Amino acid sequence: MSIFMLYYNMNIFNRKSVIYIMAISASLFMNAQHKIPNSIENEALKALSFYPELSECNIEIRFKRNIKKSTMQARPTFQSFFKKRSKRNYVILISETFKISDKEFTTKDIPSNILIGWIGHELGHIMDYQNRTKTNLVSFGVKYLFSDRFIIEAERAADTYAVAHGMEKYILETKNFILNHSDIAVSYKDRIKKYYLSPEEIMILAEERSR
Ligand SMILES: [Zn+2]
Repeated sequence: MSIFMLYYNMNIFNRKSVIYIMAISASLFMNAQHKIPNSIENEALKALSFYPELSECNIEIRFKRNIKKSTMQARPTFQSFFKKRSKRNYVILISETFKISDKEFTTKDIPSNILIGWIGHELGHIMDYQNRTKTNLVSFGVKYLFSDRFIIEAERAADTYAVAHGMEKYILETKNFILNHSDIAVSYKDRIKKYYLSPEEIMILAEERSR
């Protein structure tokens, strides 16, 4: 008996469950490498579409109640240090809310393009990590904790990767959203200016890339 005959002879209940199981396994198969919360799935998939190299890379995006000093954070998992580079796992933590002045934003309420830019920057960090050896990653982590100059270097590298992948429109929008938002504290704006690429630098990089 062919598989189709078997399918035809099943009662309705079984047929439904077969379709259900097929749908579930198809979606598991498609997203085996990327785990993304439903509420930001569109934004994350859009940002990921700029990084074809990361399509096979294990990345989980997770909401966290509060992240010190930043809104998002990308890092390799602890187990990754015992694995080959191609088998590394990365986590992007996203703060559920972030307070950048007296006003508290809910991450889900941030405009779509701003989130895409933000996630694109975090994926830039993952590109940077993928290009590093294990020992280099360890020293990266230590330097990031203790050296301000190194944080600047790492943040600018993430922005640069994002622009190199054609995300300048989103990265600029994210930057301008923060820098021009009247509800966002000056101290936070200064932080953005200090550690990240400026809108002018992003435009120069994008121009150089398309030349
Ligand atoms: Zn960053």
